[in-house]
Amino acid sequence: MLPNDLQQAMQALLQSFQHLHRLSGSADAERSVDWLCAQLRTHQIPFKRERCRLWLSDPLEGSLIVQGSVPLTIPAKTRSFSAHCPEGIEAELYYDQRSLVFVPESEYESWATAVRGKLVVADQGYEDYVQRLMQAGAAGLIHIWGSVEPALHEETVGPIWGTPVPDDVLRYPTLPVISINHQEGKTLLQHMLHSPLQACIFTRLHEHVAECSLPIVELTGESEEFVLLSSHYDSWHEGVTDNATGNALCLAMALHFAHNSGPLKRGLRIAFWPGHSNARYGGSTWYADNYRAELMQHCVAHINVDSPGCVGGSEVVVNASGAESTFWLNQAITSVTGTTASRITPMGKGGDQSFWGLGIPLHFALREEPALRTSLSPGSGGGWWWHTEEDTLDKVDEAHLWRDVQIHQRWLETLLLSDTLPVDPTSYVCALRGALAQLQSELDPMFSVKPIDQMLQALEKALLLEHQPSDLKTVIGILHRVRYRASDDYHPDLSYHGGAFPGLQILRGHRSEQCSERFWLMLETQFIRQRDRACELFAASLDILKR
Ligand SMILES: [Zn+2]
Repeated sequence: MLPNDLQQAMQALLQSFQHLHRLSGSADAERSVDWLCAQLRTHQIPFKRERCRLWLSDPLEGSLIVQGSVPLTIPAKTRSFSAHCPEGIEAELYYDQRSLVFVPESEYESWATAVRGKLVVADQGYEDYVQRLMQAGAAGLIHIWGSVEPALHEETVGPIWGTPVPDDVLRYPTLPVISINHQEGKTLLQHMLHSPLQACIFTRLHEHVAECSLPIVELTGESEEFVLLSSHYDSWHEGVTDNATGNALCLAMALHFAHNSGPLKRGLRIAFWPGHSNARYGGSTWYADNYRAELMQHCVAHINVDSPGCVGGSEVVVNASGAESTFWLNQAITSVTGTTASRITPMGKGGDQSFWGLGIPLHFALREEPALRTSLSPGSGGGWWWHTEEDTLDKVDEAHLWRDVQIHQRWLETLLLSDTLPVDPTSYVCALRGALAQLQSELDPMFSVKPIDQMLQALEKALLLEHQPSDLKTVIGILHRVRYRASDDYHPDLSYHGGAFPGLQILRGHRSEQCSERFWLMLETQFIRQRDRACELFAASLDILKR
């Protein structure tokens, strides 16, 4: 297929998907899969249409009425997994000036007393903050969006990664959460300066279990090994740059590698996830749960594609696990753009990264950014339209999309056609030591991570010798389990525990003199378990390198 054919196929997808509001569980979402499967059939590309049941929370409506001599109605949106409060929750408003700062345990009670029973107005709406408010007994949360665009963004406050198990259920928010835009927020804060105000939050959500399609292209290779390329096909509203452009890129890669290249050394699976938006990465988590053995034994890389080809997305950034050769990552980018990525940074928490416990060595994702940021939007290339009704076809930059296609094509060419994998475990271990030193500087001195660092030092030394590629793959998989996860491999961490060594990140900022005996005991226990988990997993990797 010629480049022109690939571009036409991508255009056809964008034209078709833009008319479908693809929230998982909806008829439109299934129609988009019907369209995609018809294309795959026409082009004789082998695929499966998996079906998974997901627990979905669809935000339908949110509003805020501030009481006074003239009641003030403020436009708002509620959040996926907010509590459903159609009758409204009425309470006094309270502005939490400490929503973005660390509150030591010794000040927790005064903070909790201040927010208890209140409709809390705050400058953030992350799910861990919602958890704190819920524990403290707040009546609701009004999140003021931080950047000045008037548009209201959709989001989620779901704390559980993927579908919950019975013990998880207690964590779902029992308070209503809404978001208002920056300007309305400033006006509201002005009103609050004068006298205590009463207000009422209304939210309507539809919580349901639905069967959702998960189409997956399967191109076989000479070996059983395969690369997983993925993009979520569900969207908020038209969601053209988040994420029809990502689906278009993946379709182009399916066409290219099915028809243009010779036999593949490794197979290529291209997954189109449901449930990214309203089931907190439910689709990718289902795949990790249900294809666990195949992923563990044969998957060598996961490349996630989210929001390529955006207007303004001139800067190319790569989020990468740390185990990839940065020279190799940049080689593909330089060959297409003439320059390296503006940044290569560790993967954050999000974006269907549901595969950390499975021993897959390479995980990365291209991100676009504008040269100058004017919005806090983390997706759609930083565009203000991210997660809004305005994410429409005019936000696509075809030249950026074609650039991103070519970069992915080059990455995939190496992964599918070359004998060796572009891994760099030595640099990864070095980066882990750096992250650990940074973490130590933020921990109470009683929590010494020296034993973990000693293990990493030993690993660094062992890596100086020659090793079998299969051993390096296993070792990197173990390092990822420590770097990116805190719990066992059969239960994903909570959606908000991020950063390097997430099980130890929880200890950051706490000092023994600022903690009650009971709380300090919990922190100590957390530390001992996470330290020993890290040391034992690193010792296991050392054994592999020494055998
Ligand atoms: Zn997305």
